[in-house]
Amino acid sequence: MPMPFKILADILEKLERTTSRTQMILYLVELFKKTPPETIDKVIYILQGKLWPEWKGLPELGVGEKSLTKAAAIALHVSEHVVEQLAKKYGDVGKAIEYLKREKDREVGKPVGLLAFMPKKTGAAEELTVEKVYDTMARIALATGEGSRDLKIKLLASLLTEASPKEAKYIARFVEGRLRLGVGDATIMEALALVFGGSAAKRPIIERAYNLRADLGIVAKILATQGIDALKNVHPEVGIPIRPMLAERLNNPVEILKKVGGKAIVEYKYDGERAQIHKKGDQVWIFSRRLENITHMYPDVVEMAKKYLKANEAIVEGEIVAIDPETGELRPFQILMHRRRKHDVLQAMKEIPVAVYLFDILYCDGEDLTLKPLPMRRKYLEDVVEQTERWRIAENIVTDDPDMLEKFFLKAIEDGAEGVMVKAIHDRSIYQAGARGWLWIKYKRDYKSEMMDTVDLVVIGAFYGKGRRGGKFGALLMAAYDPDTDTFKSVCKVGSGFTDEDLERLDDMLKPYIRQTKPPRVDSTMRPDVWVEPALVAEIMGAELTLSPIHTCCYGWAKSGAGISIRFPRFIRWRPDKRPEDATTTKELFEMYKRQLRKVEEAKSASK
Ligand code: ATP
Repeated sequence: MPMPFKILADILEKLERTTSRTQMILYLVELFKKTPPETIDKVIYILQGKLWPEWKGLPELGVGEKSLTKAAAIALHVSEHVVEQLAKKYGDVGKAIEYLKREKDREVGKPVGLLAFMPKKTGAAEELTVEKVYDTMARIALATGEGSRDLKIKLLASLLTEASPKEAKYIARFVEGRLRLGVGDATIMEALALVFGGSAAKRPIIERAYNLRADLGIVAKILATQGIDALKNVHPEVGIPIRPMLAERLNNPVEILKKVGGKAIVEYKYDGERAQIHKKGDQVWIFSRRLENITHMYPDVVEMAKKYLKANEAIVEGEIVAIDPETGELRPFQILMHRRRKHDVLQAMKEIPVAVYLFDILYCDGEDLTLKPLPMRRKYLEDVVEQTERWRIAENIVTDDPDMLEKFFLKAIEDGAEGVMVKAIHDRSIYQAGARGWLWIKYKRDYKSEMMDTVDLVVIGAFYGKGRRGGKFGALLMAAYDPDTDTFKSVCKVGSGFTDEDLERLDDMLKPYIRQTKPPRVDSTMRPDVWVEPALVAEIMGAELTLSPIHTCCYGWAKSGAGISIRFPRFIRWRPDKRPEDATTTKELFEMYKRQLRKVEEAKSASK
């Protein structure tokens, strides 16, 4: 049975109007209960504001505001000028279309006013279905080449003609990429667990499947059609990215070794871009840390994988690092990002050559290795990687001696790495896809500040600058991520550390994400001049972590009536390789705060 699009449009409207996560979950539960199992993937993608996962590398809709206006004009039998004027008045084309459609319905049989020339509505139109909306959108996206713009407009106009006013509004919003409902993946998974697992406690099963197969639509479809137990059989598949395992952080070699169980493998922490490299015969895919398909950016890496990855099917992980073409020395992350921005990939490849330092293997010729301990995975890795100058296994040692660790750490920094990764090698040292845990610990060079480490925070608001920067953004409100509630909690306002160029780019960067009201997943009592939908991640450094009554991060955890903030925060760089959910979490900040307190205590008792 097809699903009436009206059901989805009604829920989208409700979701848009609420700022309460609990309420959002209830609406999603209502929606999933009404969704036919074979359609649930499409509903999930629409909720995520996309047609398919980014990593598929399929085209996006490719319909700009102009084409949308034209399609609306055709569907509503008005001039484009009328649509434009109303879009200006209401702030978006979606609302303008909704208004025009409502007027049209009202004006039927009453030929007066602006819309007098519209044709009369005849008979009851067939009900629009989710399947039809989705499939038409997919056709619009996949239309390329000559005449494709006209075809896209025609298809869209036909959808808008069939839609009710409210449906038309949401179709337009989706096309414009403005369907930002603030529903995070974690919230969707919680609702799925309630509907198909009977309780929120089943969320981890869904999460594990999603971690191994980064396509929530497919995971939801397996769940809805085959039941929750079927998700336990989800294994990695070449060509579908696995969500990366992440590390905790510590800065004391003794503590680090204790945490990982005494003995560990210690590897250079390279300052480049994480790459998950999939190979099947002659085909190679490269996925970024945030699971975008970045294969086209690294033809050199593709070649190396084809030649030097000695397995028919494999998924390996490593860091792609820019190197000095003359000396082979490591160069910093920013240089690699230059290469990413260049349009001429082949030229960029010559100017900024890279090396790949491999550190893990997750799948090999039919075998899922994610649940095997690290030493076994390393063995597989050594077997399948033919090492060359620029395709090699990460520099490493195995040790249980803190002094050795410290020496290796210093050597890593001298060689241009960021520090080291210390990894557990005991029997339970599995690959924890999508999770940050104590099996991997990063020990990084600090940036000559009292704060032990930098943090990655999400922009949730912006403030206009003063003086020379009047009228333009000059400071940002930053937040940490709380995965338990799937919300972003404010940490600090940052206004320094930006170069002039950073500030120049700020307005354009923020523009697509600016909101007049607080986005649903944002938790902040500080009010910025404009709110910003959580999307952009920046690395921030500060003097120290402090208690603050203003910020909501870790509110009440260390002291009642206070959250945790950063004193003298400074912008270091953007982290385009991170999604907002990959930002530093509230729990991590709390751990950092506790460590800072311990250090102060230690310093005090040492000076007594
Ligand atoms: P950071 O912000 O410190 O780069 P992150 O949040 O991206 O870290 P973490 O898990 O905290 O991710 O740190 C591990 C990151 O370090 C990986 O995502 C990867 O890009 C990079 N890296 C460099 N060398 C290694 C290595 N030998 N093993 C694992 N990760 C490595």
